[in-house]
Amino acid sequence: MPTELTFTAPRRAKPPRHLADLDAAERAEVVSELGERPFRAKQLARHYFGRLERDTERMTDLPGATREALGAALLPELLTSVRHIACDDGQTRKTLWRAFDGVLFESVLMRYPDRNTLCVSSQAGCGMNCPFCATGQAGLTRNLSTGEIVDQVVAVARDLERGEVAGGPGRISNIVFMGMGEPLANYRRVLQAVRRITDPVPDGLGISQRGVTVSTVGLVPAINRMIEERLKVRLAVSLHAPDDELRDELVPVNTRWKVAEVLDAAWRYAGETGRRVSIEYALIRDINDQAWRADLLGRLLAGRLAHVNLIPLNPTPGSKWTASRPEDEREFVRRLESHGVPVTVRDTRGQEIDGACGQLAARA
Ligand code: SAH
Repeated sequence: MPTELTFTAPRRAKPPRHLADLDAAERAEVVSELGERPFRAKQLARHYFGRLERDTERMTDLPGATREALGAALLPELLTSVRHIACDDGQTRKTLWRAFDGVLFESVLMRYPDRNTLCVSSQAGCGMNCPFCATGQAGLTRNLSTGEIVDQVVAVARDLERGEVAGGPGRISNIVFMGMGEPLANYRRVLQAVRRITDPVPDGLGISQRGVTVSTVGLVPAINRMIEERLKVRLAVSLHAPDDELRDELVPVNTRWKVAEVLDAAWRYAGETGRRVSIEYALIRDINDQAWRADLLGRLLAGRLAHVNLIPLNPTPGSKWTASRPEDEREFVRRLESHGVPVTVRDTRGQEIDGACGQLAARA
C-alpha cells in the first residue's frame, strides 16, 4: 500500500511580507496605502532588483521618514547569513542562512569560466524522503516564501558584483532550484520567484529564463501546471531508476506517479517549451548502475528531447550506499550513448563542504 503523502508544510508563523513577494501592481498598492507617492514603489524595486540593495538605510535618495516607513513595510530583513564555507579555491561557496523564525537552509554558488550558477533552496528541509539524500532524511520544516527564495539570489548576486567572492567581480547567469526542498511542492511561491528572478529590472533581476532550471522528483500535476505558465525555463527530472520497482524505493513519490507518467509529462513540457529536459540520475553502486538498466533507460529516452545528467552518488551520513565503480559508470555512459541519448557526468563540486547534490542538511 502506498503511504499517504502530504505536501503541505506544518502550520507556522509566516515570514514577513517583502517586496519580492509582490508584483508591481501590489507593490504600488502597499505604497499608496502608506500614503506615499506611487512612484516610490518602482524606486524601491529598482534599488532591490537593479542595484541589489537590501538595506533601506543606504537608499539615500529617499527622504528619511519615507525610507523608514517603506523599509518596514516592504524590505524587512529576511535572511541572515550565518556563515559561508568555500572550496575549489573559493570557486564553490556554500552559504548557511537563518530566517526570521530561526529556520536554517543553504544555497551554493558555483563559479565556472563561462558562468556563475547559484543553487537555491525552495523549502527548509524536504518532504520527499529519498533515502540517498541528506535533505530528505531530516524531513520538511516549512516552505520558503517567494521573498526568502529571491533574497538568496539578491544577497549572493550583491557579494559577487562587489567582488566579495574569490575569482573577481561577476554576475549570476544561472539559477538552479536544486538546493533544499522540492520546488514543485511549493509551487506558487517558486513560480513567483521564477518571475521575479527573470522579469526585467525594475520588476525583477533580469536573469534569462533559459538560465533557470527547476528540478523535481516528478510531481505530475505540477509539471502540467508549469506547462501552462508558458515559460522558457529548463525542467530537470530526478529519475534515478528507469523501472518502477526500484524507483518506488529510491524516490518514494513514485508510488503515486510512475516512471511512465513522469516521463509523459516531461515530454509534454519539452514539446510545449522546445527545451530539452534534463534527466538526473545519481549512480549508486550495484543499486541502479547495471548495464541492463542503462539499456532500459536508453530505450525510454531514445529520440526524445532529453539529456541525461549522471551524478556520481555523493556520500551522506548514515547511508550504506556509495558511488559506482568507474568501469560501471563508463559502461553506463556508453550504453546510453549507443541509444543516441546525450549524456554528461556531473562534477562532484562541493563534496568537501557538504555542498554537493543531496548533501545539504543545514547544520548550524
Ligand atoms: N527535490 C528536487 C530538487 C533537489 S535537486 C529534486 O529532487 O529534483 C538535488 C538533486 O540531487 C536531485 O536530483 C537529487 O535526487 C540529487 N541527489 C540527492 N542526493 C544525492 C546524493 N547523495 N548524491 C547525488 N545526487 C543526489
